[in-house]
Amino acid sequence: MSGLRFKAVEAAISRLSNSKTNETIKPSSYYCKNVFTTAKMKEYLPKNAYAELMETIDEGKAISLDLAEHISQAMKSWAISNGVTHYTHWFQPLTGATAEKHDAFFEPMPDGSAIDKFTASALVQQEPDASSFPSGGIRNTFEARGYTGWDPSSPAFIFETGGGKTLCIPTIFVSYTGEALDYKAPLLKAINALDKAAVDVANFFDKSITKVNASLGIEQEYFLVDLALFNARPDLQLTGRTLFGHMSAKGQQLEDHYFGAIPERVLAFMVDLEEEALKLGIPLKTRHNEVAPSQFECAPMFEEINLAIDHNQLLLNLMEQVALRHKFKVLIHEKPYADINGSGKHNNWSMITNTGVNLLSPGKTPKNNLMFLSFFVNVIKAVHENADLLRASIASAANDHRLGANEAPPAIISIFLGSQLNAVLDEVETARVAKKVKNEALLWHGIPKIPELTLDNTDRNRTSPFAFTGNKFEFRAVGSSSNSASPMTVLSAIVADQLIEFKTEVDKQIKKGTKKDLALLNVVRKYIKESKAIRFEGNGYSQEWEEEALKRGLSNIKTTPKALDVYVNEKSLELFERLSVLSKRESEARHEILLESYYKKIQIEARVIGEIVSNLIAPAAFRYQNDLIVNVKGLKELGLKPDAYGSQSNLIERISNHINTILIDAEAMRQERKKANVLEDVREKAIAYDENVKPYFDQIRYHLNKLEQIVDDRQWPLPKLRELLFVR
Ligand code: ADP
Ligand code: MG
Repeated sequence: MSGLRFKAVEAAISRLSNSKTNETIKPSSYYCKNVFTTAKMKEYLPKNAYAELMETIDEGKAISLDLAEHISQAMKSWAISNGVTHYTHWFQPLTGATAEKHDAFFEPMPDGSAIDKFTASALVQQEPDASSFPSGGIRNTFEARGYTGWDPSSPAFIFETGGGKTLCIPTIFVSYTGEALDYKAPLLKAINALDKAAVDVANFFDKSITKVNASLGIEQEYFLVDLALFNARPDLQLTGRTLFGHMSAKGQQLEDHYFGAIPERVLAFMVDLEEEALKLGIPLKTRHNEVAPSQFECAPMFEEINLAIDHNQLLLNLMEQVALRHKFKVLIHEKPYADINGSGKHNNWSMITNTGVNLLSPGKTPKNNLMFLSFFVNVIKAVHENADLLRASIASAANDHRLGANEAPPAIISIFLGSQLNAVLDEVETARVAKKVKNEALLWHGIPKIPELTLDNTDRNRTSPFAFTGNKFEFRAVGSSSNSASPMTVLSAIVADQLIEFKTEVDKQIKKGTKKDLALLNVVRKYIKESKAIRFEGNGYSQEWEEEALKRGLSNIKTTPKALDVYVNEKSLELFERLSVLSKRESEARHEILLESYYKKIQIEARVIGEIVSNLIAPAAFRYQNDLIVNVKGLKELGLKPDAYGSQSNLIERISNHINTILIDAEAMRQERKKANVLEDVREKAIAYDENVKPYFDQIRYHLNKLEQIVDDRQWPLPKLRELLFVR
């Protein structure tokens, strides 16, 4: 290990060992150190400005320019006192990565002096030359303008990298004509719609509820690989995944990695990451080994949904940066290695009221039970009605390798509830409730008392894409590299829409004279019946489930180009318009961007395969084959019988067969690419890449992996999986 011990490891280890004494700095002392929290606003803002800000936040009103002026000055003072020189609007364009463009506070004066300047308008709005971000035809390249606009609900923070300190201001990103070009804008609109719809339904039970926030806790899986080995794999460098490689003799079959002891060098990385994350206000709490070798997971404490998503995006940047310090590369790709588990990003989601009630937490009293049941059943109904939209929200070229690959949830969306809650729903559905209830107490016979659920006694079903886990739903099919805003926008929107419908139906019954509680119960029962098909408790990985799901009429859309279709069908376009989440034009643009991104990813992979085959693999195979030919010739010359070099001759032939097949396939793949490239329609192009180009990947991989097993290890030009997979 000593040779491998880097400075950063030493530093982290000394920090760890210090923790045994009382000298360590407690995380609580640096938590949010680099965040412009409300506490800091209070310190840096004039008293009345602070009071005004709190009021606008409470009432959800827009911030006036006067107030913004105060805030910008406070932000600047705080940032400069922390050594910050630049500021940037930090946004999440549809590339999937985060984007920033730095400007200095510093401003030279004509007399040769300089001042630090940061105005309200610089805080509130910026105009990045954004012509190179995906816009799906919304912005023609000659109209390069796009605007970023401040999101005051996510606090500004200081990001330190390469010795530079930058004040980052979370923003949305829209076109000149106001259409969303990012992930955050529609998310904010969807969570607003959910807030309103959920408050309306919650008011059936409690009038003091005025706000409902969605909560989100994101578990992030990832792989670590040694940086030097990563740099020797062009496929990892350019596509984020290995396109070839014979599986290491030892993979995950011994199941000895999951929850195992974390290797020292990895722990040093994690310790460093956690410290940096906490400084940025990302409340990382959990860390452990995952199932595959060199696969790990970290999870923060849940937060308000918009903040949780910003924090996850920031965490991805941070992981990359901290890993480099430890001479690691983080692999966020959904499937970096073919034959072992891939990575996901479990989205734990719930709804919490301003009164502190988790709406998905089964209540203790029958009345609370009815509130819980209403929200619970509405979520189930929403997923049942819009399963295809949820499927689309997690579709990507990378996630296609994972969904349904017998280690991740299938591409079929279903909901796992656990035996207890299933029984509760069955009971509510079949209970005999009188049409007219005179005695209030009688009504409650229809609502079984839900035993208090503890997180430990809810069944664990790892094969379900959408599972209820005690007091929240866990959307597990989300890919590790995706921006959670995509699935969370859809989830918020479909639940909002469902709750609106629910309220309308209940109100109708009340108007007709049905008592409120009975009306609620009636609609809940109706929804339980209508959404039964989506409930599945069995093994989601099994063949039987595919067959059963087909019978139930559930979709099983395996590839991205087709999964995305639902985004532009009439039902979805109307849903998003109805809730003001996305206009038709925005939905169509998004659809196009996602298709484009899909085929470009496959196109890059195909090119990388072509290059590796012709420049690295074929030459290596030929060289080794020549060595064998020399060997056989030599043995012949010595007069040995053919039996003596039978194995070598056989190897020569096998190498020829494999490399010949590979070269033929690589050329055929190139021809298919050429055909696909001339297709005008982006959907057709994406489908052509999926159906005609991609199938060659596995064929080439098969023969290439066979070659890897034959060719002399010293002559093989790529690090092997057994080297990549075991970080120490
Ligand atoms: P597991 O791996 O067992 O599913 P973890 O502890 O790794 O659980 O992650 C659970 C995640 O769920 C954490 O981020 C946690 O904060 C989050 N969570 C817990 N309660 C809620 C809730 N009410 N709403 C949203 N997320 C929640
Ligand atoms: Mg989990």
